[in-house]
Amino acid sequence: MAQLDSKIPPGPLADKWRRHKADIKLVNPANKRKYEVIVVGAGLAGASAAATLAELGYRVKNFVFHDSPRRAHSIAAQGGINAAKNYQNDGDSVHRLFYDTIKGGDYRSREANVHRLAEVSVNIIDQCAAQGVPFAREYGGLLANRSFGGAQVSRTFYARGQTGQQLLLGAYSALSRMVGTGGVQLFTQSEMLDLVVIGGQAKGIIVRDLVTGEISRHAADAVILATGGYGNVFNLSTYARGSNATAIWRAYRRGACLANPCYTQIHPTCIPVTGDYQSKLTLMSESLRNDGRIWVPKKKEDRLKKPADVPEADRDYYLERMYPSFGNLAPRDIASRAAKRVCDEGRGAGESGLGVYLDFGDAIKRLGEAGVRERYGNLFDIYHEITNESAYQTPMRIYPAVHYTMGGLWVDYNLMSNLPGLFVLGEANFSDHGANRLGASALMQGLADGYFVIPYTIGDYLATQKPGSRPSTDAPEFKEAEENVRGLVARLLAIKGKEPVSHFHKRLGKIMWEFCGMARTKAGLEKALKEIPALREEFWQNVNVPGAGGTLNQSLENAGRVADFLELGELLCLDALEREESCGGHFREEHQYPDGECKRDDEKYAHVAAWEFQGAGQKPLRNTEPLNYEAVKMSVRNYK
Ligand SMILES: Cc1cc2nc3c(=O)[nH]c(=O)nc-3n(C[C@H](O)[C@H](O)[C@H](O)COP(=O)(O)OP(=O)(O)OC[C@H]3O[C@@H](n4cnc5c(N)ncnc54)[C@H](O)[C@@H]3O)c2cc1C
Repeated sequence: MAQLDSKIPPGPLADKWRRHKADIKLVNPANKRKYEVIVVGAGLAGASAAATLAELGYRVKNFVFHDSPRRAHSIAAQGGINAAKNYQNDGDSVHRLFYDTIKGGDYRSREANVHRLAEVSVNIIDQCAAQGVPFAREYGGLLANRSFGGAQVSRTFYARGQTGQQLLLGAYSALSRMVGTGGVQLFTQSEMLDLVVIGGQAKGIIVRDLVTGEISRHAADAVILATGGYGNVFNLSTYARGSNATAIWRAYRRGACLANPCYTQIHPTCIPVTGDYQSKLTLMSESLRNDGRIWVPKKKEDRLKKPADVPEADRDYYLERMYPSFGNLAPRDIASRAAKRVCDEGRGAGESGLGVYLDFGDAIKRLGEAGVRERYGNLFDIYHEITNESAYQTPMRIYPAVHYTMGGLWVDYNLMSNLPGLFVLGEANFSDHGANRLGASALMQGLADGYFVIPYTIGDYLATQKPGSRPSTDAPEFKEAEENVRGLVARLLAIKGKEPVSHFHKRLGKIMWEFCGMARTKAGLEKALKEIPALREEFWQNVNVPGAGGTLNQSLENAGRVADFLELGELLCLDALEREESCGGHFREEHQYPDGECKRDDEKYAHVAAWEFQGAGQKPLRNTEPLNYEAVKMSVRNYK
């Protein structure tokens, strides 16, 4: 059974982080350069961590499977990043951001972590502004804010609809500076395929060069995974197509616990699926809900009419009707389920019936087309590129899609997994968002982890490791891990079956969406738990991976990732089956109030479920970490 010590510092909530920083062990500056730290990933979390640790004097090796850190999925983030600056004087505070995040996560996150996140949010904005990130500004020069879901204040900082891109360019500049000084050694097109554990501690990784196929061993004093989310287990999602679970999954197989894997975020405003050959879904940022109004026709028979032909009196602005205090800015899980409900009633727009309108008619009347263009121009352009419709003239048609994974590797307050020496940052960990993430909080968390948390907490671990005690890559554990990777590559290439990798990914995605998507039932999950192992079996018999292992081979890359998804998907369903309650993004139909809202069971499930690998073919062990709320009273979430 894994040891899950959350290491939450003692003392009042608001003092914990300050006191912890003062109490934890330090590494002296001369010793820092004796430690080598591996950072896998250079999205917002990884790039900020690698740059900051190198600035501190650690020797950093940074690995990414992309050809440049600038291609990390973080670049796609559109809408903004939260911070409790209260520039608007609208009543925001660290406490309010903390409270909104806990409530938004449906009381399934750790209080102490979330409070720290709210505290450091203000530093992030200062740091990024100093790097030159071009945040939008008010006429007086102060940084501008807009609103995101689940909050009644405006605390979201943004750079048009390209916030992730601008933040990543900031982090990338910081990283490049350290690559230039030699503090960071950057390995692009290099995929981590295994974690090396020696004496119970993470001490290195095995990497495959995606261009030459070369497999190499890398030792370190600590390993940081900042490898993003695993939503592509659903195949269709708003993630970059390359986002995958391989790094965290292989770490799980080496003993790191995977927490709350079933907590998946389905984002309410995405361009609907149009056909079977689609490889990706596109987000229409939540920021659009500041000014766009969501509706469907009141009458089923109007659903195929042109939206302009449905008179105002026949439109159901259902979020404004159901949640008058938050209206169109109800949190994502709630807005997504409401969209599903009206579509299930037969009132969904478009041929498929799986669509609702996001209408800017009123905003254009109020702000003019130029005003709307200034705020959201690039998002309207994306919509036009994909649908060939102008959202200035007709409402956007949108539908929920998989967007974010709240689950991830279990970490303690120091962001260290249960495997000493293995740290996990950004979307790859489970830490701060509970069962539902509020909009604009992922960028905040990734940068908090990388710029402001890990630089302190990693020292607490490294100070326990003798400088120079890093193992040699000749150690038997490295040999075993390398052989494991070589064996996997050879096995995939040898199958020479009939179906391409994408065939299995699509089928897995369909199972996941149908049985472990927006609504889940015991019977459905049990069915998925039969179908996924059968599909996995078929994959290993019949997948066709053309080409060789010694060259650039994207089929081979994808095959490894889909093989991992085929295992992870099963764990998601198992976690969803065993969590007999509804909370946030995890909606079990059996557990709901008469009005269709989530019914939590705090007595039995106010805990983190951290799954521990027990060997191939064995049922994993479900460890639990209780969630104790001291500052916030757990209650039924109410956005009405
Ligand atoms: C379309 C879209 C819009 C979004 N908009 C917002 C927003 O407005 N605000 C907000 O707060 N959040 C937003 N999010 C969520 C947010 O973008 C992500 O949660 C966040 O960027 C994740 O950052 P990360 O650094 O953890 O991971 P990523 O940016 O996904 O980076 C992962 C890194 O790990 C590397 N990597 C992964 N596996 C391996 C491996 N095995 N070996 C080597 N390298 C590996 C990759 O190369 C990459 O560098 C959005 C998400 C989407 C999909």
